[in-house]
Amino acid sequence: MSPAETKLEPLRQVTCLGLCRYYKPGKREEPGCGGVEWLDARPALAGRLGELPPAEGDGLFGLAEDDPRLVAVCGSCEFRVDGCDFRDPQVSRSECSPCGGLRALAGLLALGLDLEA
Ligand code: SF4
Repeated sequence: MSPAETKLEPLRQVTCLGLCRYYKPGKREEPGCGGVEWLDARPALAGRLGELPPAEGDGLFGLAEDDPRLVAVCGSCEFRVDGCDFRDPQVSRSECSPCGGLRALAGLLALGLDLEA
């Protein structure tokens, strides 16, 4: 594992292993999803991930899917254009889920944190 991947591992334990329907053990996405990249660039925010409540289902901790803060995260994601079913209007919601990175950010917002913290 490269030093960069080692640094990301605790973050991925929460976002990918814990919250992502698309997680596959041993498979690394480079770059990560927009949520993981967003958290990696904001250590103060990532440091609060341990405060997330238990996740239920595959939702966004009560936030709307079109919450502009979450839409902004997806807007920065390299998977959005060609690789994300959740933001693909052609895919029904029952056939897809938000990724773990986005779900983690939604959970932090639901705690009252500012995404730019
Ligand atoms: S939900 Fe899709 S577009 Fe949004 S951050 Fe995750 S992979 Fe990227």
